[in-house]
Amino acid sequence: MYKTFQNYLTAELAAIEAAGLYKKERIIVTPQQAVIKLEGGEEALNFCANNYLGLSNHPRVIRAAQEAMEERGYGMSSVRFICGTQDLHRELEAAVSRYFRTEDAILYAACFDANGGLFEPLFDERDAIISDALNHASIIDGVRLCKAQRYRYANADMEELEGCLKTAQAQRFRVIVTDGVFSMDGNVAPVDKICALAEKYDALVMVDESHSAGVVGSTGRGVSEYFGVYGKIDIYTGTLGKAFGGAIGGFTTGRKEIIALLRQRSRPYLFSNSLPPAVAKAGVEAFRLLEESNELHARQQANVWYFRQRMQAAGFEMKPTQSAICAVMLYDAGLSQTFAARMLEEGIYVVGFYYPVVPKGQARIRVQLSAAHEQSHLDKAVEAFVKVGKELKVIF
Ligand SMILES: *Cc1c(COP(=O)(O)O)cnc(C)c1O
Repeated sequence: MYKTFQNYLTAELAAIEAAGLYKKERIIVTPQQAVIKLEGGEEALNFCANNYLGLSNHPRVIRAAQEAMEERGYGMSSVRFICGTQDLHRELEAAVSRYFRTEDAILYAACFDANGGLFEPLFDERDAIISDALNHASIIDGVRLCKAQRYRYANADMEELEGCLKTAQAQRFRVIVTDGVFSMDGNVAPVDKICALAEKYDALVMVDESHSAGVVGSTGRGVSEYFGVYGKIDIYTGTLGKAFGGAIGGFTTGRKEIIALLRQRSRPYLFSNSLPPAVAKAGVEAFRLLEESNELHARQQANVWYFRQRMQAAGFEMKPTQSAICAVMLYDAGLSQTFAARMLEEGIYVVGFYYPVVPKGQARIRVQLSAAHEQSHLDKAVEAFVKVGKELKVIF
């Protein structure tokens, strides 16, 4: 059997390669931080990590993980409900709830699992899930696992959402589902309008805060803070893999009965291992750091502002953003790849995205700013953008 299957796999891989979509992994031999070193020995300034607050290699976070490892060991060898719950897990759930001002939280091995295990336990064929077209793959997969009626509206299109809500009045429960920040443009979802429509048409609201938490809002508390809609969002999901230390782990947080039912019925929670103590304690420390001071968030915001201003002054076109994601528009797919390759030669690690990751003719370089970047890093990045931009006739 394997021979014929192997031929099939070889052809599939060749087709991916021929389409220019083959993902190669660059090997990094340093911690995740602003300045990284690649396997070949070359140094680069990193502008493509989700390390928004610089916590991935923060001394206090590392120390907390080390302490937990010494005090509580390495792994749990159990799911939560058998013998995999330590006080540290409950502390982290409490820290998540405090941060989002919600009633309770439940941890998962990843936000992919939080989204994968969210819909099926709560909704069935009598209900409606109304989802933004640009929502993350894990939301799409989670919705697929649920028997609810599916509706989809174009990215942030409130007229289409309203149309879906009208049609969905026939269903028992309705839930509007959106990413907080969309990862390719950096735009924040219009959650104020979504909440208003939810009230008008009697729907629940769920927001995936993976790219927005730690970033948007005056202290980085996410879309509720940004739009002042505390109390109106029923369910949030999020990741510990981006702003909050970047290791692993995800969560769902919101109203207590929702979380309680997920603990009983959510399959990735019931049937997958508990987070390691080191990750739990480091997570608690990350939230503690953010409760103590807004310094990291403020620095990250200032970096976005500074970078955008200098890039725009240099003549680059950028998508409007309310997050740490800056899309430098190039439009042409080939150009985006050449541009990114030249940037790496200049010591700046950024990634060019093109169809099908973004719409056809909308190729771009995505730059992710972090509190870990110093102004000199930003200056170097802008200088490289200007040099390569002139060379490739993007700016003059
Ligand atoms: C990154 C991301 C996820 C996945 O998070 P993991 O914890 O890495 O699984 C889910 N949703 C959104 C919107 C994301 O950006």
